[in-house]
Amino acid sequence: MTQTALIALGANLGDPLSALDWAAGEMRALGSVLAVSSFHKTAPVGGPPGQPDYLNAALKLGTDLPPEALLSALLNLETRYGRVRRERWGARVLDLDLIAYGELILDTPRLTLPHPRAWERAFVLGPLSEIAPEYPHPLTGQTVAAALSRLDVRDAEQADG
Ligand code: ATP
Ligand code: CA
Ligand code: CA
Repeated sequence: MTQTALIALGANLGDPLSALDWAAGEMRALGSVLAVSSFHKTAPVGGPPGQPDYLNAALKLGTDLPPEALLSALLNLETRYGRVRRERWGARVLDLDLIAYGELILDTPRLTLPHPRAWERAFVLGPLSEIAPEYPHPLTGQTVAAALSRLDVRDAEQADG
């Protein structure tokens, strides 16, 4: 059965614009690309200090691949593009995260759905809100748009001191 997957794309080494373009193009082999967000330049969050800025985007894919096969295909694209895994959350030429797969809830050593950190990350929710604002987190019901505005409010409060 065809399902709708939400995928986050990110890069901050090499040529991030080409990396995201390339990955979005390759995803046409995995199903139908239903929507692609604009590309957002974002400051790195966490990870080692001194990383370059990121380019982030989100993509909606209609696919017949089961979730594990889709994850494998995404990791395979990262490898084909030349990603090397070094330190956790270190800089990378391409990162493809499966944010959600329909409203499936899954927690295995290899794949957690929805992506466990997505709803806390403005760099994921920002692009995602362009293509799936009403998507509800399957556990909490909180939509992408609501989660993003909550983060914005929190940032503003912190800025106020
Ligand atoms: P983060 O997951 O916090 O965004 P990251 O993207 O830098 O960090 P990676 O090194 O790219 O982490 O991935 C580590 C492992 O995470 C992958 O090998 C994969 O098996 C696992 N993983 C679990 N759930 C997911 C998911 N929903 N999407 C992508 N990878 C996942
Ligand atoms: Ca990631
Ligand atoms: Ca990843």
